[in-house]
Amino acid sequence: MLRKWFEIPLWQRVVAALILGGITGYIWGPGAESIKIIGDIFIDFIKMLIVPLIFFSVVAGVASIGNIGRLGSVGWRAILLFVVTGQVAVWLGLALGTWFEPGIGVDTANLQMGEVPDPDQPTWQEMIRSMIPVSPVDVMAKVQVLPLIVFSLLVGIGILLARGDVEDDDEAETDAGVQGAAMIAKIFDGGALIFQKITILVMELTPFGVFALIAWVVGTLGLEAVYALAKLVGMNYLGCLLIIGVMYVGILAFLARVSIIGFFRGMIDAIAVAYSTASSSATLPVTLRCTQRNLGVSRPTSSFVVSLGSTINMDGTAMYLGLATLFGAQMFGVDLSMTDYVTIAILATVGSIGAAGIPGAGLVMMGAVFAAVGVPLEAIAFIAGVDRIMDMMRTATNVTGDATVTVTTASMLGELDTEELRSADDI
Ligand code: ASP
Repeated sequence: MLRKWFEIPLWQRVVAALILGGITGYIWGPGAESIKIIGDIFIDFIKMLIVPLIFFSVVAGVASIGNIGRLGSVGWRAILLFVVTGQVAVWLGLALGTWFEPGIGVDTANLQMGEVPDPDQPTWQEMIRSMIPVSPVDVMAKVQVLPLIVFSLLVGIGILLARGDVEDDDEAETDAGVQGAAMIAKIFDGGALIFQKITILVMELTPFGVFALIAWVVGTLGLEAVYALAKLVGMNYLGCLLIIGVMYVGILAFLARVSIIGFFRGMIDAIAVAYSTASSSATLPVTLRCTQRNLGVSRPTSSFVVSLGSTINMDGTAMYLGLATLFGAQMFGVDLSMTDYVTIAILATVGSIGAAGIPGAGLVMMGAVFAAVGVPLEAIAFIAGVDRIMDMMRTATNVTGDATVTVTTASMLGELDTEELRSADDI
């Protein structure tokens, strides 16, 4: 029996859990809250991996890139793709909001209010400063992903520079410092491998975690709340599906030139975990594993691009911020000028970069965008009631976007193992 369970490919077990969890939540109703603990334990286990995996993988990845020039060529391509896709996403959200006007005629009396997140908005100066890992230990203890990536990148670059001296200087072979740097690089390689193996173990919990989390969301949210805001929820799903089905598929087909089915087969575990946990950061270990093991992206490129993308590339969130702002404006009859649209586009992009990869982060950013164009903050309370169900979809989009950019960057640099990706067809 147990052997039979493990013989079923993981992605099929995960998809089955997703469907069964939804049905269970629908039948069970609010009582499904009692199994949420299983989902929480699953998320805790993945969270446990975030710090060591980023630290070891990014340092080892950068160190194995070979030289600073190559790091730059991976970096600028990935960042350009992040920015362009983010812009397309925000304007898509604004277009959907303008055409379908989801906020017109919403009867606020029927809406259930959700909890509004802490309105404390960081200023942009604070946001930039928070990226600097003043105390690396503190950053690790608090699981702050962005400053941790900055620190890991710097350690990797330090190793590259220290080892770079070897080529310039014959005496370097006997230089204890240079030898030590080379040895430390090997230790990071070992650490990255160890934590990837632990990720494989933790991923065996995915079907149980996904089942419990979906049952909880469907059971507790209730369809009434979703009905009241059906148009907004529908637009959010439509926008995300367009981003995935048109923009990402287009990029994968024409820029990366890879098998679309192979890509989605290889990514299904990460997409399901993103959907059920609503957290890009918690999904990070799974995304790393999928891009390396199933999509054939080299370890240096994937650890660098996926880690960076998980916090700064959030196309689903960017689209959502644009859409939700128009929703709030329509609900309260606020007229928006073209300048306001541009302001929303800029702030939604900055907001999606600044949003942490955790559940509800987009909702926190919403306050800043609303305030800038004069939309009453009360609108957030209404949206908050159904935010989770939309958060799940935008997180799945965000994670798919990270993998799309990673595969495309690797393909552009000719370091994609397409054999591996093709074989994802029969995982
Ligand atoms: N939950 C999203 C993520 O982790 C962020 C958001 O709230 O939009 O990607």
